[in-house]
Amino acid sequence: MKIIPFRFWIILVVISATAALFLSACEQDRRSDGKTIVGVSIPTQREEGWVRNVQRMQDEAKAQHVDMRLQISDNDSARQLAQCENLLAQNIDVLILAPHDAAAASVIVEKAHRVGVKVISFDRLVTNADVDLYITFDNEKVGEIQGRYLTSKVPKGTYVVLSGAPTDNNSKMFRGGAMKMIQPFVDRKEIKIVMDQAVKDWQPAEAMKLMENALTANSNNIDGVLAPNDGTAGGVIQALAQQKLAGKIPVTGQDAEMAAAKRIVEGTQTMTVFKDTRELAKKAIEVAILLAEGKSPAINGKVFNGKSDIPALLLTPVAVDRSNIDQVLIESGYLNRDEVYQQKRTSVKR
Ligand code: BGC
Repeated sequence: MKIIPFRFWIILVVISATAALFLSACEQDRRSDGKTIVGVSIPTQREEGWVRNVQRMQDEAKAQHVDMRLQISDNDSARQLAQCENLLAQNIDVLILAPHDAAAASVIVEKAHRVGVKVISFDRLVTNADVDLYITFDNEKVGEIQGRYLTSKVPKGTYVVLSGAPTDNNSKMFRGGAMKMIQPFVDRKEIKIVMDQAVKDWQPAEAMKLMENALTANSNNIDGVLAPNDGTAGGVIQALAQQKLAGKIPVTGQDAEMAAAKRIVEGTQTMTVFKDTRELAKKAIEVAILLAEGKSPAINGKVFNGKSDIPALLLTPVAVDRSNIDQVLIESGYLNRDEVYQQKRTSVKR
């Protein structure tokens, strides 16, 4: 019998020990302290609402002992795909996905399902994919609130209608809801829409440019502006300010950003739609845990995404203007009173 050299045994022991260590590290990575691992892919941090969503999710994940792994794709769908592939390679249990591009993100859902990971569409819907759950606000209602508000302030006249990024399924829903309210006025020839444009990537600078063009083309004769969110409203209001029209023309918004709250108090933005990110983020982590445990979270609706009816949890948006800003945004602890009224105080002091 051939004798196996001692050196060989040493190498064998080292290899097995390294392999065991590696496997246990993987196992630990997979279930770090027995925690559920939730991957979170968010399209942007350029807007306050998305920053708040992330912060709240992190808080909730901590409170629920969830290992949350976050990726931000900065409005880039290729990057979002690569980041999600990376999350899937980390053996996450569930993926919370807010797509930059609704259609392009369907590949992410397929890839996740191939490795047995359930996908929650967060705030924005992934289209043409078998998403497991959609958690968001009632987006059509957001648009209805904006449209109803604007037509109540300006029942007759000339409108600029802006909508959000065409890659974002929400944009269609916001616009659809708003036009449900505006169209009857257009049909009766009481309202004339002189510009109807989408804003690329929801960029405020783009919204500003569009508004400048609308003002020039109509010799400043604009009576109302449907701005789909606070960021774009900010751009619109800057264009109005250049013509000394800020505060004279009603402008809608959405998200209850601090800057928008200040403008509402100041009188340059007419309203916003409050979507409580605290509620959305908390619920998202809760449903992620349930899905990871193989349970079915409670839903209150279904939303068709071009492929199937996605079980949905739709939260309620709230209209905010000067009359209820204190009660809805400040007393609820969402925004800080001093910060909201800061500008006013300074201008009073002067
Ligand atoms: C969100 C809005 C946000 C917009 C731009 C939409 O999908 O629902 O709250 O303002 O994206 O980021």
